Amino acid sequence: MCLFCKIAAGEIPSDKVYEDEHILAFRDINPQAPVHILVIPKIHLASADEIDEASAPEVARIFTALPSIARQAGLTNGYRIITNVGEDGCQSVRHLHFHLLGGKKLSEKMD
Ligand code: 5GP
Ligand code: ZN
Repeated sequence: MCLFCKIAAGEIPSDKVYEDEHILAFRDINPQAPVHILVIPKIHLASADEIDEASAPEVARIFTALPSIARQAGLTNGYRIITNVGEDGCQSVRHLHFHLLGGKKLSEKMD
């Protein structure tokens, strides 16, 4: 099982902020902003590059939950959602995850 599959299964502890049958949101262990939350599907998808018709509903569930996750985290003045893909995208954990970043004015640069 990959690291985030283990976190989704509760085998590795995490600081959870939202969980339902399909998705989990937890705080990043090495935050890069005052609020840095990771949102993952419980099913294993390696990255956004693996999204297809079959897995798209899992991704839709993430984006449906994101506004309330952001609100509950206190992100009332905007935020950023990022997903890194593969080598050039500097993806270090090969289980699809969306970074939810905020709590300050973020950099205008995205690379
Ligand atoms: P990536 O670089 O793949 O886009 O993002 C992976 C993220 O997972 C990084 O921001 C890293 O800090 C975070 N991370 C790695 N291992 C753990 C862990 O065991 N627990 C938590 N909560 N976050 C982790
Ligand atoms: Zn996984």
